[in-house]
Amino acid sequence: MTRASARIEIFYQLGTETVKDLAGEKLMRLAIAKARKGIANGQEPFGACVVKGGEVISVAHNTIIEDMDVTAHTEMNAIRDACRKLKTANLSGCEIYATFKPCPMCQAACERANISKIYYGVARAIIDLLEEEEEEHVE
Ligand SMILES: [Zn+2]
Repeated sequence: MTRASARIEIFYQLGTETVKDLAGEKLMRLAIAKARKGIANGQEPFGACVVKGGEVISVAHNTIIEDMDVTAHTEMNAIRDACRKLKTANLSGCEIYATFKPCPMCQAACERANISKIYYGVARAIIDLLEEEEEEHVE
């Protein structure tokens, strides 16, 4: 099997500087793995994880169809989960890794939760990786 040459590009949302560190890539792959679980459950291909000081607090995919809830986007679910786990509505010091650029609702939720940084995947690279990992599962 030929491996796709896709690589993850992670952008710090408020700037244009590209972040390409191994820890960031690992976290983005975690979000992608969760997105794949969502796909298997009939959801759209989105995943996200909330991280604090390198520790993964929550990982989620969207559950719009399953929950019949239009607000159940992946970032919203990851934030909700992280708040419950940390027993606070203040996620300052946390970062979120999302497979795609958060929509305005999710971005607003990140800001309200005081999430320090939003990293999101560049669409094409993430789609390539989703397909690549899908191929690996076929074998
Ligand atoms: Zn959203």
